[in-house]
Amino acid sequence: MSCWQNNFSRIYVEKSVRQHRLTENILARFPKAARIEIDNYKEVFARAGQNFPRQKNRLQLILAEEKGNLLYTGSENAQDFGYPNFYYNTLILNCLYNCDYCYLQGMYPSANMVVFVNLEDFFGAVQKAIVERPDPASPLYLPVSYDTDLLAFESIVPFCRQWIEFSRKETDLLIEIRTKSANFSVLKGLEPHSRAILAWTLSPEFVAGKYENGTPRTNQRIAAAKKALDKGWPVRLCFDPILRFPGWEGAYRQFFAEVFTALPADKIRDASVGVFRMNADYFKRIKKMRNDTDILHQPYEREGKIVSYAEKDRLELTGNICDMLKNYLPKEKIEIWT
Ligand code: SF4
Repeated sequence: MSCWQNNFSRIYVEKSVRQHRLTENILARFPKAARIEIDNYKEVFARAGQNFPRQKNRLQLILAEEKGNLLYTGSENAQDFGYPNFYYNTLILNCLYNCDYCYLQGMYPSANMVVFVNLEDFFGAVQKAIVERPDPASPLYLPVSYDTDLLAFESIVPFCRQWIEFSRKETDLLIEIRTKSANFSVLKGLEPHSRAILAWTLSPEFVAGKYENGTPRTNQRIAAAKKALDKGWPVRLCFDPILRFPGWEGAYRQFFAEVFTALPADKIRDASVGVFRMNADYFKRIKKMRNDTDILHQPYEREGKIVSYAEKDRLELTGNICDMLKNYLPKEKIEIWT
């Protein structure tokens, strides 16, 4: 379930950002929360012996300053959409939603949410990277919502709004905001622009209901994407992770028919497709913790550092899904993770 409706009962604040404007704004939203000053967020976040699934039911918030990596080069598990200057950043650690297949469960020692409030430093790092980007003929491509869901958190911290405005001014920057949120109205008043892509992750209702805990229903996400399209935003659809389950072929066929009945295919900027995959170490950790979901207990195979379906199944899934999608979108608009 999504946890912030319960409010955060405790907010940990690093002393160095106690006076930061964003810290003040966030604290003002939760007047009843106990405030605990800390020196470094890792004292709380990286404590040994935490129980990720249990913490997910009662999230706490940590406000911190990112002193380390403000920008990462794109990961091999993610899609670069053909952009050579591919980076990402982590403005928030963890997510309000609780998808059974989420790799964050294996990546972080805690489910609590860390918000890095020193946005100005993240902007500075991106400006520097734009100047230094390896291929100056292409923009710097920056998904800002990879290890979290920024739009779901927007009513608490308006990061999407600020990144959209930042990218409006930085003409060599292309950002992607990926989400399962249906809360498009939180961006009210913002004019769309071509270098801020709003990307909705969509799954068949069966998958969303069974494995994507706390997220809005598929039809609500589609409705949000429709509103964004109507306003003129560049909209990306992410069909990721594609899952294999009994009757998957028929379920996905019907799902795409529903999606493209609701959304005008010719207005969609592009789409991404990726089958279930996960870093093998994270997968091992999560599997041990989660006996309550069948999605982690399928006959996956390990190839190098990645766990996914066996190659034959992977190719069958990807091939069929892409054939279905090509009924609606030209193949140049479909980015496939293989
Ligand atoms: S929405 Fe994404 S980041 Fe959030 S729990 Fe689900 S998979 Fe993880």
